[in-house]
Amino acid sequence: MGKPQIAICWLGACGGCDETILDLNEDILRIADLFEIVLWPVAMDFKYEEIETLKDGQIFVSVINGSVRNSENYEILKLLRKKSTYVVAFGACACFGGTPSLANLLTKDDIFRFVYRDAPTVVNPERNAPLSSYLKDGRHLTLPEFYEEVKPVSEVVDVDYFLPGCPPSSDLVREMFNIVSSGDLPPKGTTLASSVALCAVCQRNDTKPERLEIRSVKRIHEIEADPNLCFLAQGVICLGPSTRSGCGNVCLDINLPCRGCMGPVEALKDMGSKYLSMLSCLVEGNTEEERRRVIDGIADPVGYFYRFTIGSSIIRKRR
Ligand code: SF4
Ligand code: SF4
Repeated sequence: MGKPQIAICWLGACGGCDETILDLNEDILRIADLFEIVLWPVAMDFKYEEIETLKDGQIFVSVINGSVRNSENYEILKLLRKKSTYVVAFGACACFGGTPSLANLLTKDDIFRFVYRDAPTVVNPERNAPLSSYLKDGRHLTLPEFYEEVKPVSEVVDVDYFLPGCPPSSDLVREMFNIVSSGDLPPKGTTLASSVALCAVCQRNDTKPERLEIRSVKRIHEIEADPNLCFLAQGVICLGPSTRSGCGNVCLDINLPCRGCMGPVEALKDMGSKYLSMLSCLVEGNTEEERRRVIDGIADPVGYFYRFTIGSSIIRKRR
């Protein structure tokens, strides 16, 4: 019997998740030893047609990063689901929509107008924008259709396992390959990372005062942050209380607050609204006006609290 087959694929993605696989360095050779790679567009030249010839379920596992932005993403995702026994949603975009899903705050027309017409660097006197179908001189040209809404992978197909992070750390990626190659797979729907909040494993947690009070919100570049003190105690928004740990604390280690790329802790559906409700309990001021000023000090609250998760949140899309 041959080696189990693996497909590694990106949809609407920046490439960072694929990069983190390359960051496994010599362990990549182990993946090649354990699996027969049947698709990995970023590294190897396979064709989608070759995947179509495989039997349903023949690929042991498809590791899919990126979100579903257009019809090509949709079609390849559907195809991989059909041909795979297991699907891993790999990275924040695949798990929750990721930063690309912040575009759900705009319409497709808004995006096209700015990107192809109004952006200061664009030279487009005829104000053309891409069409998904175009007939010229009897020839029919097509492009993937750009959807109105960015969706995480699990909104389009059934997902077996989730590996969050933007991108997931190399340690988590290594562990994910160990788990899928062991044959000893956890229950369907498992997130392949710690289930506790980042605060629980943060060395600064002990420095949180007994009664945390936020009297003004500061952005990280506005202060010289104390590297040993909880960010919240310094008035800097840190999403550690509602974010799943397992990232290796890489942002905290370089004195940056958590931005939430690991997504919500277990069983928490909407991390943005949860964080907002927690924050509202911490805001202090003598008057309603003072408290409002503190809240108004948060620049871009949606972008801050839902940076990686708006595609799977209650808000999902601006209507
Ligand atoms: S999760 Fe982050 S690193 Fe991965 S594709 Fe999305 S934006 Fe890029
Ligand atoms: S809020 Fe941030 S800095 Fe404070 S304990 Fe939690 S993760 Fe650490």
